[in-house]
Amino acid sequence: MDRQVTRWPILILNMNLWFAKLIVLLAMVILIAIRAPHGRRSRAVPVVRSAKGSLEVVLLIIAWIAFLLPLIWILTPFLDFANYPLRPEALAAGVECLALGLWLFYRSHADLGTNWSVTLEVREKHQLVTSGVYRWMRHPMYLSLFVYSAGFALVGSNWIVGPSYGISMLVLFSFRVVPEERMMLETFGDDYRAYMATTKRLIPGVW
Ligand code: SAH
Repeated sequence: MDRQVTRWPILILNMNLWFAKLIVLLAMVILIAIRAPHGRRSRAVPVVRSAKGSLEVVLLIIAWIAFLLPLIWILTPFLDFANYPLRPEALAAGVECLALGLWLFYRSHADLGTNWSVTLEVREKHQLVTSGVYRWMRHPMYLSLFVYSAGFALVGSNWIVGPSYGISMLVLFSFRVVPEERMMLETFGDDYRAYMATTKRLIPGVW
């Protein structure tokens, strides 16, 4: 009887862990499902200008590792030493962030259309998008990935996996945003300058 009673908290902890892993997996699948058709569509449009240097390659590799790390957590026990209990408040806030991040990720892909690239590239007949979610800020897709990362950190109840995606996004954003805006200025000149004058980078009205 005593042994059965002491097992309950462990059982609940394990259930929470599996629930967290299920939500993280679901969020990853939705993220890939949103991006996949856009990837296929924009790859069909030739690139006319590329600012993809070796730094970009390193940044993309870091982002891929951080994106795939949760799979090791979900499918193997190797990272379980860094697990911690998932609190219901963190779970609820995390799910909201994941949903909001995924929605903004979907909207920014829909608004960018074939002008989207996984790296710093300008495509044939590239058009400057300033409508939809791009009316509110210049980098809604990066913002969406930050919000998604916050959800990930809240739901992914593991000290390594939880913050990994947010850290990789922070690194990617810090090194990429200036070259990206430079490339857009070189391509669209005054049109991008005017767009910069009326929008902030990430947070409307703030920065
Ligand atoms: N930084 C943007 C887009 C990320 S995708 C965001 O966070 O929403 C990166 C590619 O999008 C870049 O290679 C660039 O060619 C393209 N891009 C960025 N801003 C754009 C805009 N306003 N209109 C059209 N293309 C844009």
